Amino acid sequence: IEVYGAPVIGSHEQWLGIVIVLHDITELKRLEQIRKDFVANVSHELRTPVTSIKGFSETLIDGAYKEEATLLSFLEIIQTETNRLETLIEELLELSRVEQSGFEVDAQPTDMKAVIEYAFEMVHSRFEEKNMKCETFLDEVYVSGDANRLVQIMMNLLVNAITYSAAEKTVTVRLSQKGSQAVVEVEDEGIGIEASEISRLFERFYRVDKARSRNSGGTGLGLSIVKHLVEAHHGKIEVRSIPGRGSVFTIYLPLAD
Ligand code: ADP
Repeated sequence: IEVYGAPVIGSHEQWLGIVIVLHDITELKRLEQIRKDFVANVSHELRTPVTSIKGFSETLIDGAYKEEATLLSFLEIIQTETNRLETLIEELLELSRVEQSGFEVDAQPTDMKAVIEYAFEMVHSRFEEKNMKCETFLDEVYVSGDANRLVQIMMNLLVNAITYSAAEKTVTVRLSQKGSQAVVEVEDEGIGIEASEISRLFERFYRVDKARSRNSGGTGLGLSIVKHLVEAHHGKIEVRSIPGRGSVFTIYLPLAD
């Protein structure tokens, strides 16, 4: 709490009393801390790949390039780390776009079933790589939304369902209508999330398991972007999970008129 005090003097110079202002700055401090953490996180996430690119390229220039196998493996590392940097920068730009106060989506009547089917096609190879199955139960539902943004939301949730599951598991997607809302559920049989972590999932850069996320090319920004996009559609997102059994991400979206 910040405290300001000032005497109150009357027009005849007489002492009338004192004014004390108590200002609760808990929220300001919290926001300031979030901002500092964000800058620290960005710097760290950028530095890690840059350090690696620098180290491997210096070693190559110092002579390692002469050995063909080393040359190739170092170049591959440099390429992977450059791709990581590119993804990170793209996601940071995207996050800053969706976090702008005036950010709006171009809402049109949109065939949500088609959106989900398209998102599936886009991540099809990832399902194949892990020999995973996908089951869908999709009703015909039209939502009010931006098709590209909805595809982006669905791809994010699907990629997470794949990333945080063991090979050969199944991901189930359901689309239905409840009252005035469309309900989409993405259910996996993956590692699950502890109840204590769930409230933090949508924070920027929050990852339950940093190494697992990094190894799969994750930045920890995906769910923050998803949450902003869902909210820009006047929808909401919820998570339930049983550690060791799997998770369900549910999004609610307004129906088209
Ligand atoms: P990342 O790029 O790390 O996947 P996200 O913002 O998409 O970032 O997710 C944040 C964190 O939430 C992940 O690092 C992971 O720990 C957890 N998470 C997201 N989706 C799932 C899921 N389906 N099952 C288990 N954990 C998940």
